[in-house]
Amino acid sequence: MIWDELETGLARLATEGLLRRRRTLDSPCGPEAVVEGRRVVAFCSNDYLGLANHPALVAAVRDAAERWGVGSGASHVVSGHLRPHEELEERLAAFAGRERALYFTTGYMANLAIVPALVERNDAVFADKLNHASLIDAALLARAEHVRYPHGDVEGLARRLEQSRPRRKLILTDAVFSMDGDLAPLPQLFELAERFDAWLVVDDAHGFGVLGPGGRGSLAHFGLPPSPRLILMGTLGKAAGVSGAFVAGDRRVIEWLTQRARPYIFTTASSPVIAAALLASLDLIAAGDDRRAHLRDLIARLRAGLQGLPWRLLPSPTAIQPVLVGGNDAAVRLAERLFARGLWVPAIRPPTVPAGTARLRISLSAAHTLEQVEALIAALRDAIDAPDI
Ligand code: PMP
Repeated sequence: MIWDELETGLARLATEGLLRRRRTLDSPCGPEAVVEGRRVVAFCSNDYLGLANHPALVAAVRDAAERWGVGSGASHVVSGHLRPHEELEERLAAFAGRERALYFTTGYMANLAIVPALVERNDAVFADKLNHASLIDAALLARAEHVRYPHGDVEGLARRLEQSRPRRKLILTDAVFSMDGDLAPLPQLFELAERFDAWLVVDDAHGFGVLGPGGRGSLAHFGLPPSPRLILMGTLGKAAGVSGAFVAGDRRVIEWLTQRARPYIFTTASSPVIAAALLASLDLIAAGDDRRAHLRDLIARLRAGLQGLPWRLLPSPTAIQPVLVGGNDAAVRLAERLFARGLWVPAIRPPTVPAGTARLRISLSAAHTLEQVEALIAALRDAIDAPDI
């Protein structure tokens, strides 16, 4: 019976240390979270600039609710495309320095939209092995050949591009890898896209707002020029502090997505208050050099403080700082130990990361203080001799 199979499956997840447990917060997103009746310092969110609960965004939502109501009522291509959505797309295109931008309800949806709209059977997707789950699902949904290359391996990708003769080729990569924090070699990937006449789709979920001049993201960080073959996806639920995502690029590509991408056409447009909050957020991102500088200081302090631990600190220059523990149970026990000291750091396990590489994923935010980061360093150092880890 299906029910027995589900029960067995759940029991197996439990014995393998893979059960996920949701914790309910009784506080807004921020470094100081109230959870299970306790106040803890959270190093979990992707709210890299500390904007999720910013008063300017809250005020924008309140004003927009008065002016536009709450629901959009229909998909963008029917009657759900309101003025705040339109303004947001114009601002995002200008901010990203691309011809046009299209707003999506989530990054997951944006990725599911882009890939199947551009490639199909007899085409090929060349994907980094550590790409985010939504990019993997997008490639599967496209039914194109899914060629995966070793993480960050430009030579390996070049060889695979040389050997394959599909009709259309699309290189697909995270810009900042979500569980490792490192950067994709975007200039080299772009060169290969030019050489092999391929598209390069860059998922900048964790770079937008944080990296590059003015927080313009990973493409700006590397100084990559706009090109019709370069398609940018940026999410707006992380550094931007709200929710949603955008795809930016050549106007023909964006028009094609508007016409053909199923996750765009067949879903209700998000609330106009979300678009209004994002307009306020873009102002803060553009004026956010101090926030970004503070975040860089926190990253440097954390990395210096965690040298010499028995667990490997992955070589990440970004706000995502993974501490590799290895075993699932050991990672969970270490996370629980920190939680008992009022420090909330998630343990990330398979299938989110490869088997045997369970880790603590510390994410830093400009809203953290230096003292909070010092407390985390001290707690991890104290855990070194814990008998059960
Ligand atoms: N891409 C990457 C690299 C991500 O890390 C995430 C979110 N974890 C997404 C896409 C999905 O974005 P969203 O949360 O807006 O659906």
